[in-house]
Amino acid sequence: MTTKLVLLGTAGGPTPHGHRFSPAQAIVVDGAAYVFDCGNGVAHQLARAGIPFSAIRAVFVTHNHSDHNADIGSLLMLGWSGLRSPVRIIGPPPIETMVKQVLEGHRYDLDLRVADEGRRPLHEMLDITESSGGGVVYTDEHVTVTATLVDHPPVDPAFGFRIDTADRSIVISGDTVPCDNLVELATGADVLVHETMHVPALDGLLSRHNGSRVREHLLASHTRSDEVGPVAERAGVPLLVLSHLTPADGSVDDAVWQREAEKGFSGTVVVGQDLQEL
Ligand SMILES: [Zn+2]
Ligand SMILES: [Zn+2]
Repeated sequence: MTTKLVLLGTAGGPTPHGHRFSPAQAIVVDGAAYVFDCGNGVAHQLARAGIPFSAIRAVFVTHNHSDHNADIGSLLMLGWSGLRSPVRIIGPPPIETMVKQVLEGHRYDLDLRVADEGRRPLHEMLDITESSGGGVVYTDEHVTVTATLVDHPPVDPAFGFRIDTADRSIVISGDTVPCDNLVELATGADVLVHETMHVPALDGLLSRHNGSRVREHLLASHTRSDEVGPVAERAGVPLLVLSHLTPADGSVDDAVWQREAEKGFSGTVVVGQDLQEL
């Protein structure tokens, strides 16, 4: 058995800029795929990564910011003809309402394809669980997925996930400031995929938005590039993968991300790239 981590999107934030896709990861174990977050373009990135929709067992959402959930409906609708039932969907409230309303909005097409192509109704193929607390949220013969509450105000709850398989343990931070729960979840893991933000480069991003308010939000709810290394060090992980890069508009060189994250971390740092397999 080999467990593969595929970075589908490594940008932080919802606004497309043509450099990196929004956050999404796939973990593939013996041909079964588990999707973590559904940023814009997730369905397309799965196709580009060569992961068939028929492989998807479950979809997990860390929190309901649009950079993490914008394309959950698209993934299900566009991948529908390939999906095998049931597809488990697990995330914080109101994920069930959101998915149902997205599908309702597309009811014309969905009903048409049932009648015209004989497809099984999509909603019957989904098994949605809203989860508000930490602990084991999913288990099957390949993986156990454990959630922990992370600190991403004002979003509550927001999760980090740990995926344990027979040969690897991988932790995905979701969005958070440096967080004890996340350190605890990542202790003993092989890989930590962690969000990060480079504060000196935010001015370009903020000049295009509602500057001071957005800056306040970013500083209070994300992990700075010089804080992420110590998080990984405390957890004792050997491999830190940087993702959810903010800004991800190409204004920060990979060498800068790398150097910043190596501060206070004795393991290996990888600056995540879209479609990178680890
Ligand atoms: Zn985010
Ligand atoms: Zn967020």
